[in-house]
Amino acid sequence: MRRVSVFGATGSIGVNTLDLIARRPGAFQVVALSGGRNVKLLAEQARQFNAEIAVTAHEDCLPALREALAGTGTEVAAGKAALVEAALRPADWVMSAIVGAAGLAPGFAALSQGTTLALANKESLVTAGPLLLAEAKKHGARILPVDSEHSAVFQALVGEDMAAVERVIITASGGAFRDWPLEKLKDATVAQASTHPNWAMGQRITIDSASMFNKAMELIETKEFFGLPPEKIETIVHPESLIHALVGFKDGALMAHLGAPDMRHAIGYALNWPEREDLPVERLDLAKIGSLTLRAPDEVRFPALRLARETMAMGGTAGAAFNAAKEAALDAFIGEEIGFLAMTTLVEQVLSEMTAHHDLGKPLANLDMVYETDATARALARQMIPSLRT
Ligand code: NAD
Ligand code: MG
Repeated sequence: MRRVSVFGATGSIGVNTLDLIARRPGAFQVVALSGGRNVKLLAEQARQFNAEIAVTAHEDCLPALREALAGTGTEVAAGKAALVEAALRPADWVMSAIVGAAGLAPGFAALSQGTTLALANKESLVTAGPLLLAEAKKHGARILPVDSEHSAVFQALVGEDMAAVERVIITASGGAFRDWPLEKLKDATVAQASTHPNWAMGQRITIDSASMFNKAMELIETKEFFGLPPEKIETIVHPESLIHALVGFKDGALMAHLGAPDMRHAIGYALNWPEREDLPVERLDLAKIGSLTLRAPDEVRFPALRLARETMAMGGTAGAAFNAAKEAALDAFIGEEIGFLAMTTLVEQVLSEMTAHHDLGKPLANLDMVYETDATARALARQMIPSLRT
């Protein structure tokens, strides 16, 4: 039996991961599960999978979790340090699916025990890519991408030489507002931005898809994970979300990965790697689909892509600032403090202030630099929010 842990078990990726684990009885033993305030679901999962330990991110949720798991063999714990401790428990495979920069520390800790890290938490690569890859190398650990585009690229690269790669193209659904004119975007509501046309995901990444910040993050993720120069990474709008990514080689060949928009493709690939197993995903009926649409992204309506290119050009601490400013902007939008378009304005303002006064782009030497940059960017964003209020 393979020992597996799932961080962010109660979220969209976490639930899908446990769904696949449940379908192969006897194949996996669950070590650690983590969640946030959804103690009821976390406790149900811990019981169902007979987890060794269940961890909530919030200290004030610990009594409820302890009560919900009383009489079971499952240990309980709470808080950031407990998440890291749980990630250090020996496991063969660890899913990193906490949302936001909070996912970095547990994933980093898991690498230090030489495990295979299935990485859904894109913030880890955006904020600390070089450190994460170095940590994996140091401990003989492996990182498998779980973001659908990056899993697609990874699969298209099997047996290939990176030196033959001319470009990587990641597709974008275009999100909830792909056909909205700029004037209308200004008044987009949280509810409208929280509905994705193709994918069922957590609220934060769904809104990031509507603003194209998700694709912006994924450009940076591609650069960091595959070690590609930014000019070799492209994005294209593909409303059907059936092609997840394409890899172009120096002989002009393009290898594409297609599949239904179901995260269990990418999660399952990482879970079963290097084998492939049956997955309960829809099989595409290509004749019925008939045609696929592709078009260039609109960087006027969606400036997040340009901000990602600027961030990649700076490198170093810029990714941590970009992500933290984006998270702060998203919090402010969800809290109805600022409008939809003000999110990109805010990120741009934070990046420009930090470029001018905070030595943005300094090479990353350690995680503390990531945390300091993150804190500075969030504080600056908080200061700037009042002037962007609608
Ligand atoms: P979600 O909001 O559905 O779930 C997030 C999980 O993280 C929950 O278990 C929650 O309790 C936990 N969590 C939230 N804040 C936390 C904190 N501060 N500390 C510890 N735990 C915390 O999110 P999701 O959509 O499953 O996404 C998870 C990660 O995977 C994100 O980084 C996202 O960008 C990435 N991702 C998701 C999808 C998708 O289809 N949902 C696709 C690609 C990548
Ligand atoms: Mg993706």
